[in-house]
Amino acid sequence: AVGARANLTRVPCNLTNIDQPPGGSLSVIDETGTRHHLDGLIAADGGDGPGKQHVTSGQRGADMGAKLAMRAQIPLHSLPAHFALPASQLWLGRGVHVVHYPIGDDLNLVATLPASRARADWQQTVMPATSPLAVLGDPAINWARTSISSAFTAPCWRRGSVVLAGDAAHSMPPHLAQGAGQGLQDAASLLAWLDGTDNIDTAFAGYARERATDVSRIVQKADISGRIMAMSGPAARLRDLALNLGGPRLMQSWLAEVWAADPRLV
Ligand SMILES: Cc1cc2nc3c(=O)[nH]c(=O)nc-3n(C[C@H](O)[C@H](O)[C@H](O)COP(=O)(O)OP(=O)(O)OC[C@H]3O[C@@H](n4cnc5c(N)ncnc54)[C@H](O)[C@@H]3O)c2cc1C
Repeated sequence: AVGARANLTRVPCNLTNIDQPPGGSLSVIDETGTRHHLDGLIAADGGDGPGKQHVTSGQRGADMGAKLAMRAQIPLHSLPAHFALPASQLWLGRGVHVVHYPIGDDLNLVATLPASRARADWQQTVMPATSPLAVLGDPAINWARTSISSAFTAPCWRRGSVVLAGDAAHSMPPHLAQGAGQGLQDAASLLAWLDGTDNIDTAFAGYARERATDVSRIVQKADISGRIMAMSGPAARLRDLALNLGGPRLMQSWLAEVWAADPRLV
């Protein structure tokens, strides 16, 4: 978004403070103590940045840590040929799920499980010798742990001339692969609103209203998807039955809203 418009500037510094006295002008202070005077600030500073703290007055954000994503990249040549299928594969287990897809010559892997099951031998318990994914239980595979965010949409996206975008405004578990995608939608919406008026406050207010409504449905859907993927016991058996009966049409109708392009932003 910044690259696309001459009147948008990236402030390449670590912000420590946002100063916006009631009725006064907006400025930010960086870690060197330098003050920058601004007409408006798009704060895309992630889940914990000063922009989000400023706009939401430090309200509690997303929870982290109940679920973990274990991530790895493995050369495709070391795996059976079916792993090279050029598509995302989702394997639903009991309380865990695994997603994989090729990236170049590697297979990208994400296994999601409750933090309580992430013991030293988790690979062997999640992908035992009897599992079709047994080859991924190899203890030599190097997995990186990432805490997964719970679903969160900021109750307020704008305070005066400061507006939130990306994970600062909304964070979601990665079950629909939509976190960064929704951030890009934010950028497109902001550009459309800034193109339509010279008044930054009007543009920010319109953007915040539009995106808060649209993104909250996706955040909710990502959350529900995660709950369905995490089912175990009889609930998981019912889920599997429904998916087998519904087939690809069921998945497509569940995802239609997620993949639908917003005609205003294309
Ligand atoms: C396991 C996992 C898998 C995922 N898979 C997908 C996927 O397949 N598809 C998808 O779309 N999304 C996915 N996501 C989500 C995606 O990674 C995030 O939604 C995205 O990275 C958020 O981008 P962002 O720029 O809004 O925030 P961030 O990536 O958090 O960036 C915030 C930036 O702000 C900067 N910053 C922070 N504080 C300050 C400060 N004080 N001053 C100046 N700068 C500051 C930081 O340095 C950083 O550069 C996944 C997430 C996880 C955990």
